[in-house]
Amino acid sequence: MKYQVLAEACQELEETSSYLDKNTIISDLLKKTPAEKLEMVVPLVLGRVFPAYVSQETGIGLQQLKKAVGKATGYSKDKIEDLMEELGDLGKVTEKLTEEKKQTTLAEETLTVEKVFQNLRKLPEITGEGSVDRKISTVSKLLTAASPVEGKFVVRTVLGDLRIGVAEGRLRDAIAEAYDVPPEEVEHAYMLTTDYGKVAKATAEEGEEGLTDLDLTVGHPVNPMLAQRAEEGIEEVLERVEGKAAFETKLDGIRIQPHKKKDEIFLFTRRMEDYTHMFPDLEDAVRESIKPNKAIVDGELVAINKETGKPMPFQEVLRRRRKYDIEDVAEEIPVHIYLFDVLLSGEKTMIKETYSERRKELDKIVDPGEKIKIVEQQILEDPEEIKALRNEAISRGHEGLLAKNLDSTYRAGRREFAWLKLKAEVETLDLAVVGAFAGKGDRAGTCGSYLLAARDKETDELKTVSKVGSGFTDEELENLTKKFEKLKLGEKPSNVDSEIDPDYWFKPQEVFEINYEEIQESPSEAHTSGYGLRFPRYVKTREDLDVSSADTLEDVERLFKKQEKRKSGES
Ligand code: AMP
Repeated sequence: MKYQVLAEACQELEETSSYLDKNTIISDLLKKTPAEKLEMVVPLVLGRVFPAYVSQETGIGLQQLKKAVGKATGYSKDKIEDLMEELGDLGKVTEKLTEEKKQTTLAEETLTVEKVFQNLRKLPEITGEGSVDRKISTVSKLLTAASPVEGKFVVRTVLGDLRIGVAEGRLRDAIAEAYDVPPEEVEHAYMLTTDYGKVAKATAEEGEEGLTDLDLTVGHPVNPMLAQRAEEGIEEVLERVEGKAAFETKLDGIRIQPHKKKDEIFLFTRRMEDYTHMFPDLEDAVRESIKPNKAIVDGELVAINKETGKPMPFQEVLRRRRKYDIEDVAEEIPVHIYLFDVLLSGEKTMIKETYSERRKELDKIVDPGEKIKIVEQQILEDPEEIKALRNEAISRGHEGLLAKNLDSTYRAGRREFAWLKLKAEVETLDLAVVGAFAGKGDRAGTCGSYLLAARDKETDELKTVSKVGSGFTDEELENLTKKFEKLKLGEKPSNVDSEIDPDYWFKPQEVFEINYEEIQESPSEAHTSGYGLRFPRYVKTREDLDVSSADTLEDVERLFKKQEKRKSGES
């Protein structure tokens, strides 16, 4: 299949902002793609050559890529820099230079989807002496054979951002449209496989049946089941679970999904990143405690401060593990996994079983040890007993309880009422960070405050809700400035709707947990969400969340209504 077909579709996607038109463009592209090529075309349209959960770096930065462009087009570094100034995007620069070059030479080769996919996929494997030059040469060979529009998108793929406004979630509707299958089925299959390439291929080959046949695979993360908040407390919980539920402590760590495939162990986070290398101290423990040869289980990873015996904030643990020797930190800050569910046990897929059945299986297949434990659980129906258990959990420093419907299946990737969070404190909001303002005075040189947004589920746009400039320690401000440096964009991201113009725009990726005094309907500062926050304060960065699972406009509205109800009750 010619890469030109894909590049032209990307070009059309870049030029249209209509949701429906975008779907049709992707769905037409899928229909033109032979089934066996879908596992390449789908990731490429998302700007990737690996599924999202595989953490592979190409090892090529902007500067090296400029060299590759220079080598392929024959233009000098200065010319490339000048055009960069003018166009602001190396993709466009490549397109222009390839056009100019094409007037004098003819490419002797046609680029195919396979060639682009396979060559870019090889990049992380090129290591050792001279590897940078070899990487540059691999990319420049592709660019030499590329047409202008192909060059543009090859470059943007290497940079990891196609700038065509196509997020993962959109593939659901495009696949449904292309093969005439229900979008919910497509989504469900994705929740199990976390791989739209695989989902598209199964659908193209066998239609709806292919979709429903897709199953869990050890080593491929499953979207974890999520919990809803119980706004009205215990009464609401009991109503929703028909009188009786399993109550577990809500532990404060990070969600972790251990997989076991014979001797191989994987640990996936809620964002479906592979964290196995971060916790080598858990691999043996998982291998020993989980009895079957093949299994996928679900739990919370908790780090304990050796001195105080209390759970540690997770960013701190991750930061230390990134910075210092993992082995030393493992000694100093021990981590434990508390398991609470099982998705696959040997050859048995468990997700369609009820909670009660899964819990029984979990007890059967796990041999708890020092590092691997099973979450305690009590089946309760008496509100007083539930209250006592919740208060006890809170007094031990936990956030509260999780109530689980005994008859519910494992609803991968869903946030429904089968699991309910029962907390005590005022609720915080988890908002996407889309921009920042340069600090002044003491804060000069750092980002002094950040612009936050909530996702509008209808349009997929991020609408601004608040700025936040307090709650940060100096160290946090400094670390965040460094972190966001990598996410800086030259212009407002296309999926952000804002009337405020910050000093820097960021690729929307990070999520801040924000405390506030009140949600206001018409804030003094015009936010496109229609809401604003009074006295917003930064609590922490939600390392475990990405923008797609941050709070939505609906959540802000719901909390606003709840607050108004509470206020009218008080007066
Ligand atoms: P939240 O992140 O506020 O939506 O709360 C849901 C998260 O709580 C899950 O994703 C888990 O990481 C965490 N959690 C802690 N304890 C449990 C538990 N016993 N069962 C399920 N999730 C838990």
